[in-house]
Formats: sequence, C-alpha cells, structure tokens
Amino acid sequence: MNASDTSLPLQRAVPSAAERLFPTLTAAQLARIAARGRRRTIARGDVLVDIGHKAVPFFVLLSGEVQILRPSGATETLIVTHRAGQFVGEANMITGRPALLRAYVSESGEVIELDHEELLALVQTDAELSEILMRAFILRRSELIAGGFGDVVLIGSMHCAGTLRVKEFLTRNGHPYHYIDLDRDAEAQELLDRFQVSAADVPVLICRGRTVLRNPPNQEIADCLGFNAAIDQTHLRDVVIVGAGPAGLSAAVYGASEGLDVLVLESNVPGGQAGSSSRIENYLGFPTGISGQELTGRAYAQAQKFGAEILIAQGATRLACNAPAYAVQIDEGLRVPARAVVIATGAEYRKPALEHLSRFENAGVYYAATPMESQLSVGADVVVIGGGNSAGQAAVFLAQTAKRVLVLVRGDGLTDTMSRYLVRRIDDSGKIRVLAHTELVGLEGKGHLEQIRWRDNRDGHIETHDVRHVFIMTGAVPNTRWLERCIVLDDKGFIKTGPDLSHDDLTGAGWPLARPPYLLETSRPGIFAVGDVRDGNVKRVASAVGEGSIAVAFVHQILHQ
Ligand SMILES: Cc1cc2nc3c(=O)[nH]c(=O)nc-3n(C[C@H](O)[C@H](O)[C@H](O)COP(=O)(O)OP(=O)(O)OC[C@H]3O[C@@H](n4cnc5c(N)ncnc54)[C@H](O)[C@@H]3O)c2cc1C
Repeated sequence: MNASDTSLPLQRAVPSAAERLFPTLTAAQLARIAARGRRRTIARGDVLVDIGHKAVPFFVLLSGEVQILRPSGATETLIVTHRAGQFVGEANMITGRPALLRAYVSESGEVIELDHEELLALVQTDAELSEILMRAFILRRSELIAGGFGDVVLIGSMHCAGTLRVKEFLTRNGHPYHYIDLDRDAEAQELLDRFQVSAADVPVLICRGRTVLRNPPNQEIADCLGFNAAIDQTHLRDVVIVGAGPAGLSAAVYGASEGLDVLVLESNVPGGQAGSSSRIENYLGFPTGISGQELTGRAYAQAQKFGAEILIAQGATRLACNAPAYAVQIDEGLRVPARAVVIATGAEYRKPALEHLSRFENAGVYYAATPMESQLSVGADVVVIGGGNSAGQAAVFLAQTAKRVLVLVRGDGLTDTMSRYLVRRIDDSGKIRVLAHTELVGLEGKGHLEQIRWRDNRDGHIETHDVRHVFIMTGAVPNTRWLERCIVLDDKGFIKTGPDLSHDDLTGAGWPLARPPYLLETSRPGIFAVGDVRDGNVKRVASAVGEGSIAVAFVHQILHQ
C-alpha cells in the first residue's frame, strides 16, 4: 500500500484543514441538533446576525446559502459561504460575546436555530458534535485573528507604551484587530483625520467603526467590545473564582463541568503568568512544548464551554468574609455574592527599586517575553534580569531574534536556580551571555529606554550600556493586597491553607468549626486558595492546575454541608 491509497480508513478519518474549519455535518448529526432546537425558514436578503449583535443564536443550514461578510464603510468583504449541512459561527458562540461579522442569507432555505444555552447544552453532552463544533469555532477565530478581521482598528506606535498594553490585552483575549502603525502605515493619518483625533492621542482604538477611545484603560476596551455584557454580576454563585491564571481556569473547568454555577473574576486578561510565557516545555502531555497563550487560551474556551462565566478586566478589590454571606467586591463597587470562594490571584514579578521604572514599563522594560515583545527587539541587544526558569525561557526565546542576550544574575550562576535543560540551551547558544554577581541599577532615556547601568556587586564597578530592551523576570510577590485582614497570610503575604494553619492562626482568625480546615482551605471555611498565591505552593503550571481541581472537590463538600 502506498501513501496515495485512499482505501486506508485512517486517511478518510482525518479531516482536511478546510473540513475542520467548515465541516459538513452528517444526517445523523443534523438530526441530533434538530432535536434540541427549532427549524425555521430563511429568505434571501435576511440578515441572520449582524456586527455587534448580542446573544447570537447558532444556525445550521438544512438548505439555502448564508454568506459571512465583513462590512467596511461602503464595501463588504466575503469571508465564506455556508451551504447545506454547514453551520454559522465562531468562538463568540461559546463566549456569548457580540458578533464580529454579518451573516447574510444569499439563497433562501431552512435552518435549525439554537439559542446560546441550547448550544452549550449540546457541546456539553454530545462528545462527537462538541469536538467538531469547538474545533471549528476555535480555528475560525484563529483565522479571523490572523487576517485582522475584527470589529476593532488600533492606531498606535511601536514607541508608545500604551500601544503594547492594548495589543496585549486584545491578543491575550483572542480578539481580532487591525493594527495601523503611525510611523509606518500611510493610512494612519487619513484615519486620524477622519475620526478627528491627533497623533498625541495614540493608542487610539476604533470600536465597530463608531466609538473612538483614546489610550483607553483595559476595562473601557472590555466594555466597548461587550466582553462582559452577557454576564449577570449580581446573583448568588455556588463559587466565585478570583483570578483566571492556570489555577483559576482549572477550578472553573472542573467546577462548571461538575454542574456548579461558576463566576470567574479576572483583573486583566485570562492566562495569568503562564500566558506570558513563550514556550512551556514541562507541562505534561505537550512533548514539543506549547506557548502559554495557546495553553491558557484553550483552557479559557474549555471553561466557557462548560458554562463558567468569566468577567474580564474586573478585579476583586475586597473580600467580604463574614460567613456564611461571602461576597467579592469588584472594581466598580459591585458585590458578587458567593457560597464558596476560590482565590487564585497568583503572583507578579517583584519590581526592582529603580528610579523611572514605571516610565519605561512597556517602553523598553517588559515583564513578559512573548512574540509581541520579541518583535520590538529584533536585531537588538536585550538584557534579561533573573536566574529562574522564566528568565531562562525568555533568554532562549529572545535569542532567536535578538542580536545578543545578556542575562544579569545576582548570584554566582544559574545552576542552582534554573532547570538543567535551560542552562544547557543557554550554554549552547552562541548569542546568550550570563553576567554573574551583577545587578541592574539605572534606566535612562527620553520616552523610550535608551541606556541602562549595571553594577558588579563584587567590586561595586558600574557600567553604562546602550540597551533599549530589558526583560525583568525576578522573584514573585503574591497578589493578596485586596484581602485586607480577612485571611491569614504568611510573613511574605502568601495565603496559609490547610495543615499550614497553626492552632494560633485559627484561634486568632476565629475559625468557627469543630473540624480543621480542609487541604487548600484558608482560615475562613469555604474560602480556598490555589496556585502561586498559596503559601508552600510549587510555582508550576501543573501544580496550579492540580490545586484548582482539588479545591473544587472541597467546594462540593462545603455546598453539601
Ligand atoms: C514567563 C514565565 C514563564 C513560565 N514558565 C513556566 C514553565 O515553563 N513551566 C511551569 O510549570 N511554570 C512556568 N511558569 C510559572 C507558572 O506560569 C505559574 O506557576 C502559574 O501561572 C501560576 O498560576 P496561578 O493561576 O496560580 O497564578 P497566575 O498565573 O499568576 O494567575 C493569576 C491571575 O489572577 C489575576 N489577578 C490578580 N489579582 C487579581 C484580583 N484582585 N482580581 C482578579 N484577578 C486577579 C491575574 O491578573 C492573573 O491573571 C512561568 C511563569 C512565567 C512568568
């Protein structure tokens, strides 16, 4: 048998890329969908879905044709035409976010229509259809991102810190956008004139061709794009999870898939620290590695498929922790009531005490090394600060595109703090140099970082170098400031849980029950802490994911008590 033998069953079973994007369902699959929805006729000229529509239904064509269009001013771009057996929709079918494109009936016919809840019930219970639909939705969203086919135009400049922030927010939320660079694209000035904004206002975000936002904070972008519009923020939840890094997303997947009413609050973007990693190579099941963005993007879709709701750019600002009426207060002062709470707010890099640091953040100083930051430093000398695995990963990744990478460490080398596979790659790379006993002591530049100073801690000698890109990846501090005095913390601010809570800790906190706290339970019954924010946690994606799933098992016990 040779490779072109089409009688091989395996070859027929593997759908082509086009079939995965635009599958045609079988009669049996259509019958299963029809059993959950309604049949209705569609007439040529109908607009089934338009840009910005909320609570978009799911349509499967039985006959006729539907064109997916992207209107832009007076013109329309045809993205694809769906025919009998095919279905309309992409990732927003699962997230419940507003539509990005128009679905126009180009030939009359008949469809099966399911509302958002009916579609979620279908993908939660029918494994075969779940695989086909979820895969197509995610691939279609990837195509939209790659083509910049969204409802957002971003006008920015590579020299402007706000531009990188907005790009990161949109990218890590998986939202497609068209980027126009002030310094490179001729159309930028014409657009600025049309929307009556000036170059000084960048980054400028044009939302659905109508709303113009000047250097908007992330929450304003989320509001404009309707990221949170479909989510009720007031009703009592079985569990509120604070933080959508690997630990929080894992708790959301297990909680929602086991039937709990789950709300996740995320102050920035889903993915947490893991989302800022260029390549995670030690997470079980991914022998060739996976980017943090891809891993956590999948987890985000998975949690939503099971019905977890995730509020974006809405951080917890306070915990009302008087049992049994727990509530998490969010940015706007709203209180979300919860029967149980899982704290998964992780940690962030400790910022060195350097003058002007905040001025250069995202303008030469970065806390992540993803393709977005690496694009900014192509062909340049870059400096990575830190001796841990995240610094090692960043150095190896940046060496692919940078001219030279210098790793500054305070200790005498990397072997005690970094995994062996990374140390070996650094040693083998002709581009990476490690400077031991060395500390960053100064940042200079007008607008963008231009020069840095570092000190040799053995003799105090200070050198100045022309460096425009510094990646800071030093030890982490826990995100627990918002907890005030609700929960017992250790002396570094990490949350104490389970057997780590001493008798004195529990007495001081007024622990009210005869039983001791469960594993991962804090000094308040029904409030759990998981992942990097927890005292004693091993700072790994796998442990964060494991703890998220374990906490849910205990949440069930709390809800049954
Ligand atoms: C660059 C880098 C590379 C890494 N590489 C690896 C690796 O290869 N392998 C590995 O195993 N581990 C790696 N790690 C470590 C791993 O990413 C972390 O251990 C893991 O992300 C911890 O998950 P978490 O969910 O506990 O916390 P985090 O990932 O820190 O997520 C916490 C989330 O909570 C949100 N949050 C914070 N405060 C609030 C609030 N008040 N309200 C609402 N939300 C809030 C944050 O925005 C964040 O999204 C890496 C880390 C970094 C930074």
